[in-house]
Formats: sequence, C-alpha cells, structure tokens
Amino acid sequence: MRIDFSKIKLIPEARQTFSFTEEMDPAAGGFDEYRLVRPLSCQGEAVHEGDAFLVRGEYASTAALQCSRCGRRFESPVSGEFSVRFQGGAPTDESGEEAVYALEGDQADLGPALLSEIFFSLPMQPLCREDCRGLCPCCGTDLNEGSCSCQRADIDPRWEKLKGFIKQNESS
Ligand SMILES: [Zn+2]
Ligand SMILES: [Zn+2]
Repeated sequence: MRIDFSKIKLIPEARQTFSFTEEMDPAAGGFDEYRLVRPLSCQGEAVHEGDAFLVRGEYASTAALQCSRCGRRFESPVSGEFSVRFQGGAPTDESGEEAVYALEGDQADLGPALLSEIFFSLPMQPLCREDCRGLCPCCGTDLNEGSCSCQRADIDPRWEKLKGFIKQNESS
C-alpha cells in the first residue's frame, strides 16, 4: 500500500487521491491478535502540508477474532476512518491529532498504519456473540452447544444478587 508523493511534493497544498485493495498479514506487521480474511481496501486523499503529507481516508475489511469466552474463531467486519501524517526524518512527537510515520524517500507505506488503526478499533475482549455462554470451567463443554452434567454453581451473577436481595427481604 505504497503511496508515491513525488507528484505533489514540490507543490504546497497539492492533493492526490489513492485507492488500494490488498491482502494483508497483520502478524507480519506485529499484530498477531487478529487476522484479515478479506483483502484490506482503503481510499482517500493525501495533502502536501509543510514538510509532511497528511493522509486521510477510510478502510474496510473483515477480521478473524477469537472469542474471549468460548475460544471460537469468528469473523467480524472492521471499517473506519483514518488520518495519519507522514514526514521525513525520524517522526517527531505526536503533537497533532494524527499518528506520525516516517516517509521513505518520496513514498509511504500505508499498510502498517492501517493495521495499527484496525488493532486499536478491536474490542479488548472479543465475543463471538453478545450472549456467548462460554465453556464449562469443569469439563470444557461449549455451553453454546449444549449443557454438561457437571454440578456447577454457574448461576448468572445477576440472579445471585437478586437471590440475596429476596432473602434479605424475607428475613426482615
Ligand atoms: Zn464465544
Ligand atoms: Zn461441565
């Protein structure tokens, strides 16, 4: 996902559009928390701003995640807007709102920036579905698929609270 700025680098405020669709491997970029099962597509505009290039656009793909309760792999669409700044030399402190990346000559690789954007958009504890029941802590049965015969005190903590509440009321 390389953008070549050579056409706009000599003209202040010049703009150029871009559009990519590419297979990406997040693990190769240091993100092994997710995979992308669809090519990553992005489009947007680059603006020559001072000694930097401001790149804005939107991205979309489908991520494969692992459910934090049952361990099942599931797919989830990922999409969003991004805004990153590419500048020469070592990227300085991020004083602006955008993440800052280093230019490579007249070019920039948008890939790592987007993989990072996607990573930070993912839920901390992915769930295959909102009400995933998870695995039995005793035998490992996937409780989404059936129950097991373990004697578990797996009452929903909300009910537990309610039970205490009712008891309290009874005794008073
Ligand atoms: Zn699950
Ligand atoms: Zn069990």
